[in-house]
Amino acid sequence: MISQNAIETLRKTEIGAQGLFIDGVQVEATSGASLPVTSPIDGRPFASIADGNAADIDRAVKSARKAFEKGSWSRATPAFRKKVLTKFADLVEKHADELAVLGVRDNGTEIGMAYKAEPLSAAGTIRYYAEAIDKVYGEIAPTAENVLGLIHKEPLGVVGVIVPWNFPLMIGAWKIAPALAAGNCVVVKPPEIASLTLLRLAELASEAGLPAGVLNVVTGLGAVTGEALGLHMDVDAIAFTGSGPVGRRLLEYSARSNLKRVFLELGGKSPNIVFADAPDLKQAAVVSANGIFRNSGQVCVAGSRLLVQSAVYDRFMDELLSATMRLKVGDPLDLTSDVGAVSSAEQLDKNLGFVARATEEGARLVTGGQRMLTETGGSYMAPTIFENVMQDMQLAREEVFGPVLGVMRFETEEEAVRLANSTVYGLASAVWTANLSTAHRMVRAINAGVVHVNTYGGADITVPLGGVKQSGFGRDKSLHALEKYLELKTAWIAL
Ligand code: NAD
Repeated sequence: MISQNAIETLRKTEIGAQGLFIDGVQVEATSGASLPVTSPIDGRPFASIADGNAADIDRAVKSARKAFEKGSWSRATPAFRKKVLTKFADLVEKHADELAVLGVRDNGTEIGMAYKAEPLSAAGTIRYYAEAIDKVYGEIAPTAENVLGLIHKEPLGVVGVIVPWNFPLMIGAWKIAPALAAGNCVVVKPPEIASLTLLRLAELASEAGLPAGVLNVVTGLGAVTGEALGLHMDVDAIAFTGSGPVGRRLLEYSARSNLKRVFLELGGKSPNIVFADAPDLKQAAVVSANGIFRNSGQVCVAGSRLLVQSAVYDRFMDELLSATMRLKVGDPLDLTSDVGAVSSAEQLDKNLGFVARATEEGARLVTGGQRMLTETGGSYMAPTIFENVMQDMQLAREEVFGPVLGVMRFETEEEAVRLANSTVYGLASAVWTANLSTAHRMVRAINAGVVHVNTYGGADITVPLGGVKQSGFGRDKSLHALEKYLELKTAWIAL
């Protein structure tokens, strides 16, 4: 783990103006324009990124296509790709302190979480796919004697990667690593409010020996660079994590351009269900508080709807409130902070809009609901709990993506299932019960990509992550994710 001394040194590092990363080097945006980077820690600008546009996306895609055609990566042996990617993972790990602090200055996640979830997780992901790629085989089909049916697995070509600001390195690596391992060339469009770590990641990839053009990063506004990538005629696939409205746009861009495949990891309104026979109510309350409030609730799988069985409702709410009050909201670069800053002033305003509407609609505010630490100039919000939340309220239906929890009561298992499944989302969920049969019935009944039992959050690269319904389709992580970046080709040979 990083030390406070190391953090204090790194927090003062000059970052300066960042260019785009195209064809293995930093270059200016075609327009020469840049965007300021403001830290949510204190509201002050501390760097700038190049404001890319459609011409820059085109340069990056051309560089990626040229590298793909050249074949020094796409047709290299899997053993070579493994060697380079392993070195890449080592470099990311070696620079973990630098990457973690840079990312926290950019998006405000508390350092304790960011350190593990960003550089260390990204390094682990890159290593996992590096090690996997020389264990992927084609197939021979069971055909008649006089023919040979071979099934080849080939890279898709140029893959566009678009990620959100909450964990840009971790989520970026979930897409970049399997895409590269499979032999594709990649153009990354980072989130405009947290681009710095992905730019540094591309430099480290280059240092590890990734050929020029294989990994490019174009910063800029989503509506400009993201759209240009989505509409580009020479991009074969887009791997996206972000909001539902942008996910829909990407499907439209695909339809309007070259029918590129689109993988969508979208939002959630995940139910966290506490049955009266939960093995340890106190521990369930502590984990549930962390499951919604860490990273200020800016976690796609956050357990933002809490359903508690009536028989233990009052006891559980007492435990939940005391676990919540113990969370220290503060400077995300202070190792003792449990909850850091909200990613931007705009996001904080949006969160407070949800609080106002929940109050208007009749939910009862138990704690929080307001800004904190305004004297810092940063964006901080108190962990917020509403009870008496009804199914028709905005808070029960829409994703806040902030530290706001809505609590509902239920009486029976059937009612819990009905409430759990009553949103358009289906990303994550949890069930707390000591009864094995209840747990297994709930795993089957809940319509979500992930069901936790007697825990919340936590997983590793070996298991897939993704949603059902309007939480998207396609899975990140695990060996299943590799398949997204490989195309099947049949050779039918007369003997
Ligand atoms: P967002 O959809 O606003 O932005 C995501 C990315 O899309 C950014 O890089 C942005 O620049 C880009 N973008 C914006 N407009 C675009 C356009 N017109 N065309 C192409 N790209 C465009 O989301 P956000 O606010 O950055 O992130 C929060 C959302 O991400 C939440 O809904 C959250 O649930 C979701 N998320 C999902 C997962 C998951 O694994 N399912 C993980 C993390 C976050």
